[in-house]
Amino acid sequence: MQRFIVIGNPINHSKSPELHHAFAQSVNLPISYTRQYCPDDAESFLAVVQAFFAGGGTGANVTLPFKELAYQLCQQDGKLSERAFDAKAVNTLYLQDGVLYGDNTDGIGLVQDLLTKGVMLDQAVVGIIGAGGATRGVIRPLLNAGAKIVIYNRTIDKARALVEQFAHQHLTAQPLDALADTQFDLMINATSATTHGQSLPLQNCQAKTAYDMMYGKPSAFLAHFAAQNARCIDGLGMLVQQAALAFEIWTGKKVDLNQIDFGKLTVSQTK
Ligand code: NDP
Repeated sequence: MQRFIVIGNPINHSKSPELHHAFAQSVNLPISYTRQYCPDDAESFLAVVQAFFAGGGTGANVTLPFKELAYQLCQQDGKLSERAFDAKAVNTLYLQDGVLYGDNTDGIGLVQDLLTKGVMLDQAVVGIIGAGGATRGVIRPLLNAGAKIVIYNRTIDKARALVEQFAHQHLTAQPLDALADTQFDLMINATSATTHGQSLPLQNCQAKTAYDMMYGKPSAFLAHFAAQNARCIDGLGMLVQQAALAFEIWTGKKVDLNQIDFGKLTVSQTK
């Protein structure tokens, strides 16, 4: 039986084991997928990864706060996919011919979720609030899908650093207070503000579709756009899609997400 883990701290809230067991069941593949708590330091993370793969583990997902450490590990002693290189973060680890590979399925998971839900990205004017790891991971997949992106961030230098990194004509940066009185095809919240119940300066900011990467909690960000009858989507679909892509990388099996009963996972995909 193939073995998988998700490494994080905290880790009890992770839905990855339920998702991957549902995927495996849908393709008749017996697997074991468990949560792996890890103390928040580089030595412990390295020890967990080494012990897991030395023990015959097939694949590991990596979540907060270890995605950057996983990136550094693969950069030093393994290989990185182009997506992981762009994101400077790894969420999917596996061994191939004894070499540790790091991939990042978060960004492509977001694009997949949006396209599956019929949100047009080609030529779409997209605002992203936040300039952290999640934003860095979604920029290239969104640009590749034809989006024109403006990043808004509280710390403007972080947004400017992303513009410099990707150096693309359709990627620009603005301070957070420039959000007021703007209009977008798609507005994405990639801050942790909503997680902490903090609000964003959205006065008269309008969008046809609003997407909050956060899920499972009420979102003041989505409530703002729901009041203007915008389409509102939470980040659960992104989580599901990134997981399905990791599953495919590890097992070679493509999951038909229409076959999965998400009701059993006690979460809904679209608000
Ligand atoms: P980071 O910690 O790397 O970045 C957080 C960002 O939020 C920064 O840009 C920070 O701004 C901004 N921020 C935090 N608080 C506030 C505030 N009160 N007002 C304005 N800006 C604020 O986090 P990540 O990029 O890793 O994650 C961002 C969100 O995306 C989280 O909610 C996370 O759970 C979610 N996520 C969801 C995924 C999914 O599958 N659905 C996958 C990955 C992430 P500053 O730079 O000024 O500090």
